[in-house]
Amino acid sequence: MISVEEAQGQVLSRIMVLDAERVTLLESLGRVLETDVISDIDVSPFDNTAMDGYAVRYADVRDASESSPVTLQVVDHIPAGVQPEIPVGPGQASRIMTGAPIPSGADAVVMVEYTRVGENAGSTGGTVEVLRPATLGEHIRSRGEEVHEGETVLLRGETIGPAAIGLAASVGHDTLLVHRRPRVAIVSTGDELVEVTEKPGPGKIRNSNTHSLAAQVLEAGGEPYVLGIARDTEEDTRALLGRAPEFDLMVTTGGVSMGDFDVVKKVLVEMGKLDFWKVAMRPGAPQTFGTIGGTPFFGLPGNPTSTMVGFEMFVRPAIRKMAGFTALARPRVIATLAHDTKKKSDRRYFLRGRLTRSPEGGYTAAISGNQSSALLTAMHRGNCLISLPEGESFVPAGTEVMCIRIDLEEGTA
Ligand code: AMP
Ligand code: MG
Repeated sequence: MISVEEAQGQVLSRIMVLDAERVTLLESLGRVLETDVISDIDVSPFDNTAMDGYAVRYADVRDASESSPVTLQVVDHIPAGVQPEIPVGPGQASRIMTGAPIPSGADAVVMVEYTRVGENAGSTGGTVEVLRPATLGEHIRSRGEEVHEGETVLLRGETIGPAAIGLAASVGHDTLLVHRRPRVAIVSTGDELVEVTEKPGPGKIRNSNTHSLAAQVLEAGGEPYVLGIARDTEEDTRALLGRAPEFDLMVTTGGVSMGDFDVVKKVLVEMGKLDFWKVAMRPGAPQTFGTIGGTPFFGLPGNPTSTMVGFEMFVRPAIRKMAGFTALARPRVIATLAHDTKKKSDRRYFLRGRLTRSPEGGYTAAISGNQSSALLTAMHRGNCLISLPEGESFVPAGTEVMCIRIDLEEGTA
């Protein structure tokens, strides 16, 4: 048996970052940028007003107040999207709407709230009373305030979020070059499995792993491809495992432990290459890894929680690496264990647990339900995996333990 870290190291040493593809802005969401994004214009492209109000010459209204308003002649009415042609001279103002270009001559904007319409209200040629002073440049967004033409707006290696998409759009990019999402084939194995829509007959259970795995793949940034159920025969297993080279990664569940019908490992050895098959951990020691026709292959154990924890520890980092992410490990926090725990000393334990903030400020971690690897409820109710080190057979309440935040993405805490 190898340690979790050795296994993770072996996996990642075999995983290559995928090439890039050009996709629409929306399709780039959550993906990793492969090149810098450069602006083709200044942003803002011109001096414009941040407020609805009046474009003025600030010197005219320097002393304006409620008790002694300054009256200005309104010479223009400038909506957003229009280039003003009438300059603002001394004693003059132009009515102006947010985003509209500042007319020549004006050097400040007075908010409409600090004005009172004078005679001939609403039409050009009327007057406006300014009730507060303005400072030079007030409420003017200047050209190039955010970005200059030719400047880098987004950096290679960044993860694209909604704001990055908005920035890319504002500087003229309707597509982005991002790393490909790994195409991940999912195969479940077992003679006992029936599809979700079926009511299991005698000795049968529903196939849940395919679904939890597909969701984990999607959440990790991969594209799940469900290939179906392989029955526990070499022939059936060969048929589905043989499709691995069509994908970037293949994940199977079940058929990798010591049972008489656990044929996955045998078929893997025959068709491809086996790197390791047992990791010193609980749940899910029979974690199998290798390659088939060059495609990385993960044979996860069949118990639903072992499958999910195996995915979390080995498959997720592999998918993230392929997709171009550099942060591959989930955030971790140290917490105080809430209860005594017995364990086998030769294995790392990953208890399904819940972190809560203790009144003193730190975290407390407690199991989130029955720890049988056949049951998923504790996984569902938990927000972390409580990691208990090998070498210990008893971890008392009050011990500081390391917890993996499975509710948070890499690089977020
Ligand atoms: P195995 O690793 O094939 O020996 O399976 C271990 C346990 O996990 C058995 O009780 C199986 O019935 C169960 N199991 C295997 N595959 C699935 C699956 N796709 N969905 C739910 N349970 C499964
Ligand atoms: Mg089985």
